[in-house]
Amino acid sequence: AKNSGGDRFQYFTPSMQKSAVSRMALINDLRTALAENQFKLYYQPIVNLMSGAIHKSEALIRWQHPERGLIGPIEFIPIAEETKLIVDIGDWVFHEASRQAVRWRSSFQPNFQISINTSPVQYKSDNFNARDWLEHLHVMKLPGDAITVEITEGTLMESRASIDQVLFDFRDANIQVSIDDFGTGYSSLSSLKKLDIDYIKIDKSFVDGIAPNSNDLALCEAVIVMAHKLDLKVIAEGIETENQKRLLIAAGCDFGQGYLFSKPLPAMEFEKLLNI
Ligand code: C2E
Ligand code: CA
Ligand code: CA
Ligand code: CA
Repeated sequence: AKNSGGDRFQYFTPSMQKSAVSRMALINDLRTALAENQFKLYYQPIVNLMSGAIHKSEALIRWQHPERGLIGPIEFIPIAEETKLIVDIGDWVFHEASRQAVRWRSSFQPNFQISINTSPVQYKSDNFNARDWLEHLHVMKLPGDAITVEITEGTLMESRASIDQVLFDFRDANIQVSIDDFGTGYSSLSSLKKLDIDYIKIDKSFVDGIAPNSNDLALCEAVIVMAHKLDLKVIAEGIETENQKRLLIAAGCDFGQGYLFSKPLPAMEFEKLLNI
């Protein structure tokens, strides 16, 4: 679609986003999307690799555009970050995930957990206050450990100043913290030791290359051994094959996520997976 002139998908290509007119249109549409509740959270299970049981779920945002259909996050998160709309979108994600956690905790499992993604732009914004989130949990009568916050390794490295207090507030409220896309940012595991986090998510790019005697497998093994020494649990992202799963289990990986288990699903379909 990117090279065929004039079709509607052009609207969302990077080159079109640079054109002032379509950029304005996209920004306006994003504002409307917030106001008219066009965002949806899809849920992907994170499974215990040994038992196969669902451990928690990751919430992944989609935009149900009235004319353009379902739009994935990589098409609108960057511009939402540039315009700081991501701060309001991030609040929406938190509120929606909390609402869903309340429902699944009463209908399925009393301690069901949902993991949400966050952007560095949120943490740098004056309009973001972790305490508003904690207050919201309080109002919802939801304990902090119902929510896990995923922060990418890159965010952690580039925004340490703005993130330290936030991490402290999360910890104080018992919200769990997961380092997303681990391995892509060249940070050392020992630097994570001071941060008191709970999970490391090994990025899909490493899981993709896992094969017996491969460098990627050696890297995963090393990360898993060190993470366990630091008392962190490890989640491998993007598992697509039985072979990857088998090698990750042998390497001692705790949890896995990927199309092998399930794609991200709308809440109603995710509930079928839980079928308690
Ligand atoms: P991520 O956090 O690394 O999420 C994993 C991505 O990999 C998701 O793409 C998921 O659908 C996809 N995935 C999961 N398992 C497999 C697999 O086995 N094979 C393949 N090929 N892909 C798999 P998605 O949903 O398009 O999200 C892309 C990125 O957008 C996320 O990467 C995250 O960085 C960002 N994102 C998603 N939701 C949010 C959100 O609510 N807020 C923010 N700030 N960012 C979000
Ligand atoms: Ca994530
Ligand atoms: Ca990733
Ligand atoms: Ca901990």
